[in-house]
Amino acid sequence: MQATENREPAARPLTTLSEDEKLFQSTVRKFARDEIRPYVREMDEAGVFRKEILQRFFALGLMGVEIPEEYGGPGGTFFQAILAVEELSAVDPSAGVIVDVQNSICNSALLRWGSAAQKEHYLPRLAENTVASYALSEAGSGSDAFAMAARAEEAGGEFRLNGRKLWITNAAEAGLFVLFANANPAAGYKGITAFLVERDFPGFRVGKKEDKLGLRASSTCELILDDCRVPRENVLGEIGQGYKIAMETLNEGRIAIGAQMVGLGRAALEHATAYAKQRKQFGKAIAEFQGVQFDLARMATEIEAARLLVYNAARLRDASLPFLKEAAMAKYYGSEVAERAASKAVEIHGGVGVTKDYPVEKLYRDAKIGRIYEGTSNIQLLTIAKKLLG
Ligand SMILES: Cc1cc2nc3c(=O)[nH]c(=O)nc-3n(C[C@H](O)[C@H](O)[C@H](O)COP(=O)(O)OP(=O)(O)OC[C@H]3O[C@@H](n4cnc5c(N)ncnc54)[C@H](O)[C@@H]3O)c2cc1C
Repeated sequence: MQATENREPAARPLTTLSEDEKLFQSTVRKFARDEIRPYVREMDEAGVFRKEILQRFFALGLMGVEIPEEYGGPGGTFFQAILAVEELSAVDPSAGVIVDVQNSICNSALLRWGSAAQKEHYLPRLAENTVASYALSEAGSGSDAFAMAARAEEAGGEFRLNGRKLWITNAAEAGLFVLFANANPAAGYKGITAFLVERDFPGFRVGKKEDKLGLRASSTCELILDDCRVPRENVLGEIGQGYKIAMETLNEGRIAIGAQMVGLGRAALEHATAYAKQRKQFGKAIAEFQGVQFDLARMATEIEAARLLVYNAARLRDASLPFLKEAAMAKYYGSEVAERAASKAVEIHGGVGVTKDYPVEKLYRDAKIGRIYEGTSNIQLLTIAKKLLG
């Protein structure tokens, strides 16, 4: 036994937040409840996210959480970005994904791979007023993303991009697109290159917006590249490094999707608990029936487990430790749990659960995408299995 005074300080529990993190979390929570909640249903029905709320995201520093102060951002941590996504998603998962895509895959790609000139030019805009999108997927290449057909040809100091991208989140609002195309198809995936494409570059167009089951207020659009002209200085990283950039940024993105799903699951649990306490059958609140209590207890346990996976992966990322397997687990498990929690919340509401008079039917619709985007559940399982099997 070591003497008490010689003991190493115990590691902090994963869910214990620093004072800064607590303040940040409570600010985002209050903002989401006061300023987003009143419009959630309207935005879901219209399939449009309110511009004023987007502006508030920028004003609160939520669109550039990790952008350093020298570029006009608050210079926060990835963990804070994760807290923001969880809090926003607990009110509206569409709000969560907008902030998620901006921070966890677009800003972080620029912060990590951008040249000094690119950072100087784009980071202040991303912190202040420019929404970003991440354009990897195409109609023929989803899980097999690197089989993309989009091409980039160099000519006269610029690139000409041709092809189409599909399913691009934030595209209706975005001013900047981190976009992948193959600049050397003979080299296979080693030709894939990342470009910073501005919305008004000649030959670039945002196409059809999808009419979706869930996350309806978050835009998902096609992009059309018709001899789109991109200056050479807008290559992100090196030519042929796109594969690595995509893999590494998506690993971070998956933690944020896990956070989105934890927020969604938490909302489902909160609504189900409140309803179970007030709904009476057989002369008492349905929360008094052990069958209902067990459902709520299972939901709470699973959500807590998912949160621990998410927080651990985010803390590993901030500590510059490996987190590939942990991120895949956080996304895989978080999305499973959210879908189960939303489904159970609808059941606990009985018949009214499937009506638009209560918020749980929307959570049920919003949950489904968690198992699909940024790598389906099968793709996460493949990553986890690869790490297990070596
Ligand atoms: C709302 C929404 C937002 C999105 N946002 C973006 C975005 O911002 N940027 C972007 O680039 N993309 C985005 N996507 C695309 C998303 O990442 C893809 O839809 C996803 O990767 C799955 O690709 P897919 O749709 O082509 O399905 P497919 O790859 O065709 O998969 C179909 C099924 O086959 C299974 N499958 C495929 N391969 C394997 C395998 N090897 N082993 C086992 N099972 C397999 C999958 O698990 C899935 O169940 C978005 C999609 C949606 C719906």
